[in-house]
Amino acid sequence: MAECIFCKILAGEIPSKKVYEDDLAYAFHDINPVAPTHILIIPRKHLSGIQEMTEEDRELVGHLFWVARKIAEDLGLSPLGDPTRGYRLVINAGPMAGQTVFHLHLHLLGGREMGWPPG
Ligand code: 5GP
Repeated sequence: MAECIFCKILAGEIPSKKVYEDDLAYAFHDINPVAPTHILIIPRKHLSGIQEMTEEDRELVGHLFWVARKIAEDLGLSPLGDPTRGYRLVINAGPMAGQTVFHLHLHLLGGREMGWPPG
């Protein structure tokens, strides 16, 4: 999509700090982190958000979560075997939920204690 910031990041037209990439997904540091670790995991396929997901995207969305879990583990955030660690995965769907970029992305947040409910 021509005007999509994250499509421009995927095309290399806007610089980003890459964390991971494969045929389906790309992950990079958020430009405005809200936690010590704040990484965005996006599909190469343009979807405006999880709200646009169809049945054919089920494997793709599952893959994004797989990638997020792998990154969290690589960064030492996994709570498996150490409950003092942990991370949060977030998808904002629509402006009402805080979505500002309309290309599906999964936030991976970690490195600090988090409260509930989120704001
Ligand atoms: P949303 O509010 O849509 O759930 O999340 C969008 C995220 O994208 C925000 O956390 C914002 O800081 C991040 N973001 C927006 N523009 C850019 C950019 O050009 N580069 C990077 N790395 N992150 C961006």
